[in-house]
Amino acid sequence: MDNFISGIHNYCDRWCERCVYADRCRVFAMEKEDRQVAANDPKWETSLEPITKTLEEAIKLLDKMAREKGIDLTRTDPEFEKERAEQKTAVEKHPLTQKSMAYLELSRQWLEQGLVKICMDKIFEEVELGIRTMQEGEREILLLRESLEVIRWYHHFIVAKSHRALMGKEGGYEKVLPEKDRDYNGTAKITRIAIERSLRAWATLLGFFEEEESALFRIMAALQQVQAELEQTFPDMDLFVRPGFDK
Ligand code: SF4
Repeated sequence: MDNFISGIHNYCDRWCERCVYADRCRVFAMEKEDRQVAANDPKWETSLEPITKTLEEAIKLLDKMAREKGIDLTRTDPEFEKERAEQKTAVEKHPLTQKSMAYLELSRQWLEQGLVKICMDKIFEEVELGIRTMQEGEREILLLRESLEVIRWYHHFIVAKSHRALMGKEGGYEKVLPEKDRDYNGTAKITRIAIERSLRAWATLLGFFEEEESALFRIMAALQQVQAELEQTFPDMDLFVRPGFDK
């Protein structure tokens, strides 16, 4: 028996280099193996051949089984397609999607100005000029770098995970399960964690950019709106226990 935690990768933030459960995650192990193969084999592309062949054989077998049962896999089910299209439209129009996109846009615009880099350069300069001590400089650079990394890591993640949670809820396929077992609640929960970490990171930046105060408050307000909408849409998310992370 292996030591992997089943399903842990479904409700994490995919920040593997910071993950305390990396050695218990099957996805991490597989990706590590792939990286090693790619590093050691210059013809890695050709080493994928066996997988491609296996997939092709699996598809042929599936096709054969379907034909035997009189099912045509090439035919689409119009009812299913219609439902799927309605589900997508509902998710796109949902306030959670709109708000998470609005946050992403505000965040992206602010980051694109490169103000954090300018601020870090200024700190380096002040250390060189003796206006700040080395320790002060290092501490501030670390805070800035960490905040920037957190914001960058999560701003797309919040949009993607909100979308996934909404698709799950709108699909209605999980209605037969109790709330505590519904995948969309686990997804909503990691989304809220990402929001909370991002809010702390923006709050840290506030301490460095007095002149940007109103822009930063606007971004944080947008993110708080995403949080409120998420909590309203998924009121039972805390019932879900994420494998490994929630004990
Ligand atoms: S559980 Fe950890 S190691 Fe596995 S995919 Fe998620 S972040 Fe990466």
